[in-house]
Amino acid sequence: MAAFSLDLDEDQLQIQKWVHDFAENVIRPAAHEWDEREETPWPIIEEAAAIGLYSAEFCSNAFADPTGLTWPMISEEMCWGDAGITLAIFGSTLAVSGIVANGTGEQIVEWVPQCFGTPDKIQLGAFAVSEPDAGSDVSSLRTRAVYDDAKDEWTLNGTKTWITNGGIADVHVIVASVDPELGARGHASFVVPPGTPGLRMGQKFKKHGIRASHTAEVVLDDVRVPGRCLLGGKEKLDERLARAREGGSSRVQAAMATFEATRPLVGAQAIGIARAAYEFSLDYAKERVQFGRPIIENQAIAFKLADMKTDIDAARLLVWRAAWMAHSGKRFENGEGSMSKLKAGETAVRVTEEAIQILGGYGYVREYPVERWHRDAKIYTIFEGTSEIQRLVIARAISGVHIR
Ligand SMILES: Cc1cc2nc3c(=O)[nH]c(=O)nc-3n(C[C@H](O)[C@H](O)[C@H](O)COP(=O)(O)OP(=O)(O)OC[C@H]3O[C@@H](n4cnc5c(N)ncnc54)[C@H](O)[C@@H]3O)c2cc1C
Repeated sequence: MAAFSLDLDEDQLQIQKWVHDFAENVIRPAAHEWDEREETPWPIIEEAAAIGLYSAEFCSNAFADPTGLTWPMISEEMCWGDAGITLAIFGSTLAVSGIVANGTGEQIVEWVPQCFGTPDKIQLGAFAVSEPDAGSDVSSLRTRAVYDDAKDEWTLNGTKTWITNGGIADVHVIVASVDPELGARGHASFVVPPGTPGLRMGQKFKKHGIRASHTAEVVLDDVRVPGRCLLGGKEKLDERLARAREGGSSRVQAAMATFEATRPLVGAQAIGIARAAYEFSLDYAKERVQFGRPIIENQAIAFKLADMKTDIDAARLLVWRAAWMAHSGKRFENGEGSMSKLKAGETAVRVTEEAIQILGGYGYVREYPVERWHRDAKIYTIFEGTSEIQRLVIARAISGVHIR
C-alpha cells in the first residue's frame, strides 16, 4: 500500500505553476478593471481559450486525475488571481457538472464540448436551478417541463434567477419539474441548445462582489426541446418517477447530484481569495510602520495573521479530503462536501475582513485589492447552498435526525 502523502505529484505541480502564472500575469492585473466595468471579461476568456485553459479537454483531463486534487488546486490558483474573472472563465463548468452528473455517455460527448466552443468561437454554459421563490428550497421549483409524446418534444416554461452566464450562455442546463406533486423527486435536467427560441435573458444583476461574472434571470417562454435533450433519457426518468410515486427511494435528485460534486471545488475558490488577502496583509504588516516599528511586531496583528493562515490551511485540508473522497467513490457519510464548502466560505469572509483591519484605511479603499477580495468572498457563504444549508446537511448526516 502506498504511504500516506499530501504531496502533489510532478504533473500537478506543473499544472499548478502554469495556472498560477496565468493568474499572476493575466488575471490579477485585469481584476480591478473588470470589477469596475462589471462586464464579462471576454478578452481574458479568449486568452484562457488560446492557451487551452478554457477547453473541454483541459477540464476533462483535470477531472480525470484520480487523486481528485487537481481541480481544487486549479480553482484556488485562479481565484488567487481574481474570483470574478475565474467565475467568468469557469462558470461554464457548472453546466458541465450538470451534464456529467445526469447525462448519458452520448449526451456528455455531444454537449460538454459545446459549453466551451473553440478558441475561434468561444461558447459558454449555464446551469439554472434557482428561481425567485425557490432558492435554498429547491423542492418548490415552478419551472415546468411538459412532454408531448407524439412529437417526442418537451416544452419548458418558467423563470430562473441568479444564473451565472444566464442568457449569454450558448448551452443552458435547466432543472425543471416534470411532476410537481413529487417535489424534488419530480425534477429533471434539460439541455437547451444554442439559439433555441423562447429562452431569453431577463434582468442582469448589479452585484456586491464577483462583478466580472455575469448573473441574470433566464426567462423560458414555451421553450421546445427534442426528447434527446432530457439528461439521462426518458426511460430512466420514467423508472425514477415510478419509484418515487410508489414511495420508494429515488436517489438521484437532479440538482442535488450536481451540487454535491461541485461543493469542494467552490470551497477551493474561496480559499484562493483568502490566500490572496492573507499574503497581501502579511507583506503589508511587515512594511507598515507605526509608533516606530512594523505593525507585525504587535501581537494583536501577528496573531491575526497566525489565525488567518491556520484557518486557510484547515479549510484546504477539508476541501482536499472531500475532493479525494468524491473521486475515490467514498460516500459523504458526514456531509464532508458541505463541511469543506462551509469552512472555506466562512474562512474567506473572516480572513478578508481581518485583512482589511490589518491595512486600516488602505484596506477600505479601491486603490488596494483587499476590499474587493472581501466583497468577492461573501458570495461563498451564499451560492451553491448557503452556510445555513451546509450546516443543515451536516447536522442531518451526523445525527440521522430530520433537523429543520
Ligand atoms: C452571484 C450569484 C450567482 C449564482 N449562480 C447560480 C447559478 O449559476 N445557478 C443557480 O441555479 N443558482 C445560482 N445562484 C443562486 C444561489 O444558489 C442562491 O442564491 C442560494 O441557493 C440561496 O437562495 P436564495 O438566494 O433564494 O436565499 P433563501 O433560500 O431565500 O435564503 C435566505 C436566508 O434564509 C436561510 N434559510 C433558508 N432556508 C433555511 C433553513 N431551512 N434553515 C436555516 N436557514 C435557512 C438561508 O441560509 C439564507 O440565510 C447564484 C446566486 C448568486 C447571488
